[in-house]
Amino acid sequence: MIRLTQRVRIYPNVEQQQQLARAMGCCRFWWNYSLNKTIETYQQTGKSLSRSQLNSLLPNLKQEYEWLKTDVYSQSLQQSSLNLSHAFINFFEKRAGFPRYKSKHRKQSVGFPQSVKIEGDYLKLPKIGWVKAVFERRYIGKIKTVTITLDQTDKYFASIIYEVDACFIAGGGDKILGVDLGVKDFCVVHDGTKTSKYANPRHLKKHEKNLARKQKKLARKKLGSKSRQRARKLVAKVHARISNSRQDFLHKLSRKLTDESQVIVVENLNIRGLVRNRKLASSISDCGWGMFLNFCSYKLEREGKRLLEIDRWFPSSHICPDCLTQIPKMSLDIRDWVCPNSKCHKHHDRDEAASRNIRAEGIRILKAEGTAASASGGDVSPNRGRKTKTRQSPMKLETTTSSTS
Ligand SMILES: [Zn+2]
Repeated sequence: MIRLTQRVRIYPNVEQQQQLARAMGCCRFWWNYSLNKTIETYQQTGKSLSRSQLNSLLPNLKQEYEWLKTDVYSQSLQQSSLNLSHAFINFFEKRAGFPRYKSKHRKQSVGFPQSVKIEGDYLKLPKIGWVKAVFERRYIGKIKTVTITLDQTDKYFASIIYEVDACFIAGGGDKILGVDLGVKDFCVVHDGTKTSKYANPRHLKKHEKNLARKQKKLARKKLGSKSRQRARKLVAKVHARISNSRQDFLHKLSRKLTDESQVIVVENLNIRGLVRNRKLASSISDCGWGMFLNFCSYKLEREGKRLLEIDRWFPSSHICPDCLTQIPKMSLDIRDWVCPNSKCHKHHDRDEAASRNIRAEGIRILKAEGTAASASGGDVSPNRGRKTKTRQSPMKLETTTSSTS
């Protein structure tokens, strides 16, 4: 398992802001209280307080201060004690300074070590409810800890830690790509935020012209002549060159997409054959598609990733990706269109819209299979505050492992 962190902007409503402010206040109080207790205990006994020793102080404290029971999710307080013990470990391992008291004039935070859900554009926090959030990318994985922060410019953010199967991000990428195998371009790829078009390589076209010329020459040679044999060899050479550079192009492209993604979604080629006019596809695209999907498929599989072929027919190029309005069929030379739905009226590039629709359909299937959580958009971050094996510290601190948080 590997952990990914994503930071998203969230927009709590007024009531939620008040609830968050109270929860942050409780966590700040508890952090300062435990830091103070740890320092005191150390001064008196030469020993530190472990995380569980700190947590055992909580029930009495909650008797004394009722709001610690009512204003904050109890797990958030436990998260604060965990953070404090990590802060001490980082200090003793010289990765950070001595833990500081938290001030209400600085950045505020509250952690939720469990029970957080993501659905659509909302994040569900225990005791707070559904909070509007902006996800730029979506991850497939288990949500671990979520920390909500309020910065000094009054913006709220959620740092979400996902646990993702290591093989999912072997190539570093984490995206779900919708790929439309095109006529004008070799393929058009949408990754959830941006669209990339991959043109057929120029030199292939050049080779094809060369091939046509050489084939014509060959046809003019007399049957059985030596010059015919030579001409045939030349044609074979060009064929080999075309095939090599096509394979080279397809290997590079499939490598790139595999590195960027967890899942690549495409339309099944049989389905495409029925739907699209094959005459219009150039010979390069035509023989390239099948090979390309083979290359993608085995590269993805080797890394525990997945090629998802959409088997059933769906109108990828006749639907508005924004409002899902169906549009009448149009000829292939129409490259862009405006959505006829008067509430939408968005302008779409034909191929881009198709790749977005294919991706959305893939996500729908993944969700139905129950493998797609949601959210995404962060960096791979090593866990901080974890103990290393050769730790030597003057204080005894409880050791924590990443899997228990
Ligand atoms: Zn629309």
